Amino acid sequence: MAEVLVVGSVAFDSVRTPFGQAEEALGGSATYFSYAASFFVPVRLVAVVGEDFPGVHLDLLRERGVDLAGLEVAPGKTFRWAGEYGYDLDEATTLATHLGVFADFRPRLPADFRKTPFLFLANIDPDLQREVLHQLERPRLVALDTMNYWIEGKREALLRVLREVDALVINDAEARQLTREPSLVKAARTILGYGPRIVVIKRGEHGVLMATNGRFFFAPAYPLESVFDPTGAGDTFAGGFMGVLARDGELDEPALRRAIVYGSVMASFTVEDFSLNRLRRLEPKEIDERVRAFGEMMKVEV
Ligand code: AMP
Repeated sequence: MAEVLVVGSVAFDSVRTPFGQAEEALGGSATYFSYAASFFVPVRLVAVVGEDFPGVHLDLLRERGVDLAGLEVAPGKTFRWAGEYGYDLDEATTLATHLGVFADFRPRLPADFRKTPFLFLANIDPDLQREVLHQLERPRLVALDTMNYWIEGKREALLRVLREVDALVINDAEARQLTREPSLVKAARTILGYGPRIVVIKRGEHGVLMATNGRFFFAPAYPLESVFDPTGAGDTFAGGFMGVLARDGELDEPALRRAIVYGSVMASFTVEDFSLNRLRRLEPKEIDERVRAFGEMMKVEV
């Protein structure tokens, strides 16, 4: 079984949805990713937190077997994000981003992290994503996520790192913003031209579109009756997606499609509660049940 390395944010999130709110809850792209991927493979995390970050949050990841040797505790404040969602829950409005210790973060990978075969560059400054990528020795698969904050603020740096990755995992609004293409099919093709050979566009409750080499695959979202808080859905999706690819060790089209289903199922749990609360209660057999139901739901005779 191959390991997965993630670099991204470990954060305090303050989130408002039409159904409630959470103040300074555990969040961050690397947190959601590593927790989700830990159901499938050993995970190594590279990130920074401030001295204000409570040890109990780290214990949560440690208990999942996440290797925290690449987590730096720096003088200063942990990254904080505040966002809110309207009733359609599809897109977060960022109310505040405080980079804190991320502003001066220079990731240095522990020596035994450098041969990790699967790398996920979670949502973080694209220059930092590139710094991490260059410290790895020939990874088998490198995937990257980003968001409007970096597309607007560091577009050139983002396009530079995109040339060096295998897969981009991004949401629909970001894909349109990045390519300036209203059609997602065209946007996916345009992104294939930027460098990645796999483009995964997450469309919230409408599911996922994957483009590889001129081939398209559409998967629905797992049909949930109530979504509570979509924060972290994208990173949880990516954790399931990369985790299953690393677990199974295959990267062909059927393997990619299977990984999309697992990613979608993992995300369907995260959105059922605030922060990592639902993932913390998650049993592996619940994953299996939803994956089976998902497969059934997608069957069609034509
Ligand atoms: P998503 O999975 O796309 O909903 O991502 C949500 C997570 O992204 C939250 O837990 C935030 O802490 C984190 N986040 C938000 N803005 C940024 C940013 N500019 N850089 C890194 N992480 C961020």
